[in-house]
Amino acid sequence: MKTEVLPVNEQSLALAKQLILAGELVAFHTETVYGLGADARNDEAVKKVFEVKGRPQDNPLISHVHTEYDITPLIDGEPPYAQALRNAFLPGPLTMVYPSTGRVSKYVSCGLNTLSIRVPASQSAQAFLRAVNVPIVAPSANLSKHVSPVTAEHVLDDFNGKIPLILDGGACTGGIESTVLDCTGNVPQILRAGLVTREMIASVVGACDVYHMAKGEKPKSPGMAYKHYSPRCETVLLKDADEAIERYFEEEKKGGVPYLLCTRSPKEGLRVLPLGESGEEMASNLYARLREGERNATLIIAIEPNERGGVMDGVLNRLTRACKGGEDET
Ligand code: AMP
Ligand code: MG
Repeated sequence: MKTEVLPVNEQSLALAKQLILAGELVAFHTETVYGLGADARNDEAVKKVFEVKGRPQDNPLISHVHTEYDITPLIDGEPPYAQALRNAFLPGPLTMVYPSTGRVSKYVSCGLNTLSIRVPASQSAQAFLRAVNVPIVAPSANLSKHVSPVTAEHVLDDFNGKIPLILDGGACTGGIESTVLDCTGNVPQILRAGLVTREMIASVVGACDVYHMAKGEKPKSPGMAYKHYSPRCETVLLKDADEAIERYFEEEKKGGVPYLLCTRSPKEGLRVLPLGESGEEMASNLYARLREGERNATLIIAIEPNERGGVMDGVLNRLTRACKGGEDET
């Protein structure tokens, strides 16, 4: 299969619509990362998303809709706080989990009785979603466990020859995946940290919980149980800058090519992947730097940033999952 990469315009949107309604996959830009889109109502199309990504079968997908799309038939009611949050943050990088009415393919929610919905703010995502006018499931457009894609080129690197179309909407500015918020209880609960922070949610509706998976428990958001976001080279996450320098020279001595991933280089003259200063900058840079690093590095040595709170919850979650290994997502 030839993979076309096209700018977003009338012709490419018409092609995208034709492909989606025929059960094919189309990758598209959002403000967070690129998504791998399929018709949420079509069993075969949804199954294809799991196959092409190599995504574990128990990791549910988010359904994306345009701003005018009426989600009421898809969800079995919503608490009053959910409406306030929609008004405050949508369109934007916030995914809301509702009780499902089961109108989309049963493969979307992997056996859960909930449905997660997102209304992306990206103009090209909106143009695509309006053109197709059906709910589009879209996980990040990367091979399972690889670093999420923030340019059309990243998508092509993972899926060249495997999907027919990538709608190129430019680089994603947000950089990390949407906040996933459980809206089925009395108080909203963050299942995955992202650009819409706990503080922002609490400031609108008074309270916001954060879900922490207890050891041995079945995860509420299955994706959080998988290793994720990993570059193709070895990685390590360290708190201490001196230790990072030591590892750097050790790697060079072995004939390797180490890179530091950090806010400020602890020493002149080292190869550095700059992460940025603020939480927003770090979120926006993280995946691009990891993809850049894996092309040349034998080892990426990440130095844990000192910043905390707000967007840093999401940044540290992704950085840990990319560079430390252990449990994670796709
Ligand atoms: P991705 O699309 O790759 O960014 O991953 C989607 C994330 O949303 C994963 O962590 C999923 O586990 C989570 N998710 C999607 N749908 C649901 C749902 N119905 N309930 C809980 N978590 C969900
Ligand atoms: Mg993903």
